[in-house]
Amino acid sequence: MSIVFIISAPSGSGKSTLVGKLRERLPGLMFSVSYTTRSPRGQERQGENYHYISRAEFEERIRRGEFLEYAEVFGNYYGTHRSVLERAQAEGRDLVLDIDVQGARQLKSKIPDAVSIFILAPSRQILEQRLRNRSEDSEEMIARRLKEAAEEIQNWRAYDYVVVNREVESAVDTMAAIVKAERVRRCRMEREIQPILETFQQGGG
Ligand code: 5GP
Repeated sequence: MSIVFIISAPSGSGKSTLVGKLRERLPGLMFSVSYTTRSPRGQERQGENYHYISRAEFEERIRRGEFLEYAEVFGNYYGTHRSVLERAQAEGRDLVLDIDVQGARQLKSKIPDAVSIFILAPSRQILEQRLRNRSEDSEEMIARRLKEAAEEIQNWRAYDYVVVNREVESAVDTMAAIVKAERVRRCRMEREIQPILETFQQGGG
């Protein structure tokens, strides 16, 4: 069984950097590419960062029940396609989903075994500084993101783990430790443990 890891964070928390580094650290993980109705930013590429589609196409796919979860964030739709989980399961790989708090809630109710991680900036001041430093947004957008962050942060208790992103390498260490610990949890090891127990039951000695 694949483990589904949900990662959520307010924008500017450094989530993309952390997820990118986690990817380098644990190459066996599968990372979901979401569908969105927003336009590509900067260096982003079709099919790599997102599948960019029109609102009409997104709504058609909702009608067809193609999404495992979806949500409207900052006026655009974002969704995880069902086929991503099917592929992860077929390949026996663990899956990482970078989704917002609404999507995380939907997914946890569908897959209660999913492991959720919330990434938090150390303070509002640092979050604001990071949003300014990346100079992607207007003043108005920064104010909006900070307001949204204040609201999203209220949901931290619904997550299994909270990682405070004070320093990138140490936050990635913590995330990799979570993945490794979840992989060796007793209930997830059932299939591997049974054959080991059998070797003992076969006696000898
Ligand atoms: P951005 O536009 O900055 O790439 O993403 C905006 C927000 O949408 C982020 O919080 C990101 O986690 C969230 N998001 C990205 N893909 C999905 C998805 O498939 N489902 C949901 N629910 N949220 C998503």
